Amino acid sequence: MTKKSHKKTTAKLSFRGEETPWWLDLIHTSLQNPVLDRRRAIFTNRSLRFERIDAVGFDFDHTLAVYNCAKLDETAMEMVIEKLIAEEGYDKSFIENIPEPEFVTKGLVVDIEQGNVLKVDRFGHVSIAYHGRHRLDQKERRKLYGDANHIPHVTDRGRYIQIDSAFAKPEVLIFSALAPCTDCSECRCLWKTIRHYTDLIHRDDSLKKRITASPREYLSPDPDVIPMLRHLREGGKKLFLLTNSEWHYTRAMMNPALGLPGGPDDLSWVDLFDYVVVEAKKPGFFNTKKNGRPLEQIDGDPRILRGGNIDELERLVGATGPDVLYVGDHIYSDLITSKRSSHWRTMLVISELEEELAIHEDLPGFARQLRDVDVYRARTDLEVHHWTNLEGVLGRIDEPDFEALVEKLIEQCSERKRHAVRALKKYIDQRESLRSRIARAINPHWGSLFRTGTELTYYGKQLEDFACTYTGRASNLTLYPTNHYFRSGFDHLPHEIESM
Ligand SMILES: [Mg+2]
Repeated sequence: MTKKSHKKTTAKLSFRGEETPWWLDLIHTSLQNPVLDRRRAIFTNRSLRFERIDAVGFDFDHTLAVYNCAKLDETAMEMVIEKLIAEEGYDKSFIENIPEPEFVTKGLVVDIEQGNVLKVDRFGHVSIAYHGRHRLDQKERRKLYGDANHIPHVTDRGRYIQIDSAFAKPEVLIFSALAPCTDCSECRCLWKTIRHYTDLIHRDDSLKKRITASPREYLSPDPDVIPMLRHLREGGKKLFLLTNSEWHYTRAMMNPALGLPGGPDDLSWVDLFDYVVVEAKKPGFFNTKKNGRPLEQIDGDPRILRGGNIDELERLVGATGPDVLYVGDHIYSDLITSKRSSHWRTMLVISELEEELAIHEDLPGFARQLRDVDVYRARTDLEVHHWTNLEGVLGRIDEPDFEALVEKLIEQCSERKRHAVRALKKYIDQRESLRSRIARAINPHWGSLFRTGTELTYYGKQLEDFACTYTGRASNLTLYPTNHYFRSGFDHLPHEIESM
């Protein structure tokens, strides 16, 4: 398609339902949301020159399509519960034990053998654990997990399952309600049963039928998505949609997701993309060795395709490897596999990020205070060790001629140590108070998605390793020029931070 004809078609599309020039929505959005708003910023782990990106691809669910998650989770949960009661004979009284929705967040790990939900740091250590609604104390946690590194991985379908999809919340909530009244030896079986019915409602289309019957109830359209797509097209980028969803679902959902009035038969939204690829079967899509499926044209439109693999799509789009930016919300199937096998540049959409940044803004200066207190605490800790060591050395001196002097030195040393211990306790209390205030404000059970204590979470580490950039919503790309240099911050080792 020529640029000229593209301008002509996209001029018809506006989320306000009017015919407007392509730049009007863009200017409107930019004026409303200056880049200075940190909640709408794009953050960079690995520098990316946007001018070198020839093609930008988007996932659909939870990336371009923003769901009303409360409604979606409620429906999915209701359907799985119905199956558990009707097919497995569970007593419906367990519904009362289902925790509140905030109990489950992305990035947590389910221990399907012990029936626990865990928060895990970057090294795989368990920092918070819940059995049902009961939070395990340190003793209970150590008994189960010790100090061993349990590094779970999403591909390890053994004991640990990472919650990496926004669709996973209902099954973990149900598991948390049933695990406490299930014998430990049966927990794995319980998990498999819940998984089976969760898969079933996705696989047999029953959930999708409920959603597509009233799609607007399940979506919270982001009005900036169309201006963003137009902005990228005008900047010369090829655009493609790459989704695992079927074509019938995508066509039913796209207009409502974009805030457009059309029904499933109105396909004018396709003009926003160069190619639309459905049923992509990510992450297998990125592995050409295992996946030799051809790209098939569907619905009589050469831009609408099904299946295929990354090689075929790259040939079609005319961009390969680091010339492609892929924007998705699923850390494993959208990012880790695409980055490992294709070298596509990546952008992770994390809806929780915007909420966390808003909370930090509501508690101004807390992060800096916390960092300062951490530095003071570490220094004072060293001081306590220093005086303790010196006290020990002085205590071992057995020189009658210097007895009076040694006693005086021990007294001085003890006084300094008492002072340092008091200061250390003060800093520890301050740190705990600041940390728990921030963590409680973000999530009373789990705190931040990205951090646990001074460490990154397992999710935070994956984000750092596999997302070149990340942001709260895909449409934030509107706020950056198409030749922007996304520059990463300076990477510091601990000794460098100490000397700053
Ligand atoms: Mg998705």
